[in-house]
Formats: sequence, C-alpha cells, structure tokens
Amino acid sequence: MKELVYFIEGDGTGPEIWAAARPVLEAALAKAYAGEHQIEWQELLAGEKAFKETGEMLPAATIDKLKTAKTAIKGPLGTPVGKGFRSLNVTLRQLFDLYACIRPVKYFQGIQSPLKHPELVDMVIFRENTEDLYLGIEFAAQTPESKKLIAFLRDELGVSVDPEAALGIKPMTARGSRRLIRRALQYALERGRPSVTIMHKGNIMKYTEGGFRAWGYALAAEEFAGRCLAEESLEPGTLRIPGKVILKDRIADNLFQQVLVRPAEFSVIAAPNLNGDYISDALAAQVGGLGIAPGMNMSDSLAFFEATHGTAPRMAGKDSANPGSFILSGAMMFEHLGWRKAAELIERAMLRVLAGKRVTTDLARQMDGAATVGCREFGELLGAAL
Ligand code: NAD
Repeated sequence: MKELVYFIEGDGTGPEIWAAARPVLEAALAKAYAGEHQIEWQELLAGEKAFKETGEMLPAATIDKLKTAKTAIKGPLGTPVGKGFRSLNVTLRQLFDLYACIRPVKYFQGIQSPLKHPELVDMVIFRENTEDLYLGIEFAAQTPESKKLIAFLRDELGVSVDPEAALGIKPMTARGSRRLIRRALQYALERGRPSVTIMHKGNIMKYTEGGFRAWGYALAAEEFAGRCLAEESLEPGTLRIPGKVILKDRIADNLFQQVLVRPAEFSVIAAPNLNGDYISDALAAQVGGLGIAPGMNMSDSLAFFEATHGTAPRMAGKDSANPGSFILSGAMMFEHLGWRKAAELIERAMLRVLAGKRVTTDLARQMDGAATVGCREFGELLGAAL
C-alpha cells in the first residue's frame, strides 16, 4: 500500500531535523514491511522557503493540496515578532479546522526526570484547538472598545466590571467540546486505554469550563453507553475495566498536582484549549522536555503531524537540534496509518540510542555521562538502531 503524505520542512531548524528524520522513517517502514507499505512524499511550501520561492508564506497551491489531503507532516514554522502577520500554525489550524491537538507523553528510559517514577507517565493529551480564551478576543484597558463593552455589561446585563479593566472573551460551545471529547473517547476505546479525564475549571467558570465537563458526560451517555462508565458509578479506586473506558473529571489545578503525584491514574486527558496548552508542556517536562515530544493536529479528514517545538532560531544551521520530536511524530503517523510495527521499531530504536548515551545537546544535558552528537549523527544512530 502506498500512502500519499505531504510534508513541510519548516523554518529554522526545520530543514535539518527533516533531513535527519526522513531516512529514519523510510528505513523503519522498509524494515517493518519490506516494501508492502510505502510512502509517496510530496513537498508543500510554507514559511520562509515558500516566501523565497513564491513571495508568499502560505501559497495557494499549499492550501489547495491540503484541502483534500488525508495525511501530512510538518516541521516548525516561525512567526516573526512584530511583523504583523499571524502565526502560520494558527492559520493552518483555522483554515483546516484542525480541532484536536493530540500529544502523547511517555517516558523514555535513560533521561533524567524530576519525577521519582517517570516510567508511570503514559498519557495522551487531547487539546481542543479552536475555541476558548486562546482565540485572543481581547480589548485593551481604557480603550473605546473596552469602555463600550463594560458599559454594555453594566447597562444591559447588570454586571459590574472595573471601568479600568482589560477584557477577554472566552467562547466555548457544546459542538466544539463534544467533537474533541468524542475523539478522546474513541481513541481510548480503540487503543484499550483505561480512562479519559476531562480537565476543567468548572467550579469557577461554570458555563464555559463547566459546560465542557457537562457536555462531555452527556456525549458519553448518548454515544458511548455501555462502553464508557462514569467514575462516580464505580467502586472507589477502580482504575481499569477491561473493554471499557472510565470517564472522570478533575478540576485543572487538582489535575496538575495529581499527574505529578499519581501519574499511573491518568491515561487520556481531554482539555479545553488553554488548559491543554499548559498541561502539554508541563507533562512533557515531567518526562524530559520538548525535544522528543511528538504531536498531531486533526480535523475530521486531515491528520497533520508535527514536531511540537518551535524553530529554535539560535540552533538553526548548526547541526545541533534534536530531530527526535519530528521522528516520533512520524512514528505516531505510522500508528495512525495502522502501521504499528514501524512505529514500534522507531520507539525501540530511540530507547537503544538513549541507552548508548550519544545524544543531541538538549538530551545530553539531562543525562549523566552522555556524549553530544549532532542532529545528523543522532538520526544516523537511530537509523542504525532500527
Ligand atoms: P522553540 O520551541 O523554538 O524553543 C524553545 C526551547 O526549546 C529553546 O531552548 C530551544 O533551543 C529548544 N528547542 C526547540 N527545538 C529543539 C530541538 N529540535 N532540539 C533541541 N532543543 C530544541 O520556541 P520559541 O523560541 O518560543 O519559538 C521560536 C519560533 O518558533 C517562534 O517564531 C515561534 O512562533 C515558533 N514556534 C512554532 C511552533 C510550531 O511550528 N508548532 C511551535 C512553537 C513555536
């Protein structure tokens, strides 16, 4: 089977980590399936490379191809500060309605972690990508807009807000919440994961974050009856029921401490946009940082895999970036395509290379007695360890 996969190299370290990652992905596929499964790579232009070749950061040809694409993978894309164009990543998410950001967080033996038992961390975060305060609907303090809104709140809704306040709007819908939580539940059922935890701050924000929680439970009752059981209905302490998924919820601040002290109790986490943003990086730090954290963004038709870090401009062109996040995102893509064996080969190769303690600088800093290798060599070591 030949699968068409579009790729975007990305800016900054993007071309280097892609050059190191692609041969590893191809070698894993060849080793796992001996030509039975193959990828037809097609490059799409975006970011600086696109600008150089076409004068546009996101050319129409790229948008057209992605409209019908099923699978794509990308390196990081930069957002020049103060140059007046919005983030390409945010634009891509919005153009293609990539509403679910999915980030697995798993410990790799050998990396130093601040936890006593990092090996117990094996979670997958489903972060809503299209709603919430993250949309940035804001009004600066003391502007005609904020004054008008404050007057409206006072006169029409009887709500008193300090006249000097800056304001932000937090839109969250049942539709947006349900489709994200639906994906999380489907994923947990398909992969035999024991639970989905809804992360929210519904005790304070009753209608937005509280809505997220309530819509999640309602969805589970309507669409997953018999397959999904609410934690409340079970004996206290039940962590797994074979063939079913347990749905629970935790208030965000409580969840932050529980994932630290009782990581084994959490498997899939479904979070609104802003909570999801925070917990993704916090969990990545628990197991060794962003350099090897994979991720993807999904719509109903497109699965868009990506290195989760940025362009690391200071590392660009120095052969020092870690291609691990890109490579593990590729492994995640294989899993998504049903090519699990290739994904497993990559994960095992990563463990072997980490055990050999020849790693890129970001990892060497977190390992006792490790030698530093460049981006290209790290990729070669992974390829050899397959
Ligand atoms: P960054 O992720 O580039 O860097 C944060 C830290 O992580 C830095 O210390 C950096 O050296 C390190 N790091 C990043 N990638 C690494 C790698 N492959 N190997 C080892 N260490 C790595 O974040 P930033 O500095 O906030 O952003 C730089 C640019 O990237 C900005 O233009 C930003 O908009 C963009 N960005 C893009 C994405 C994306 O495309 N998904 C995500 C975040 C930031």
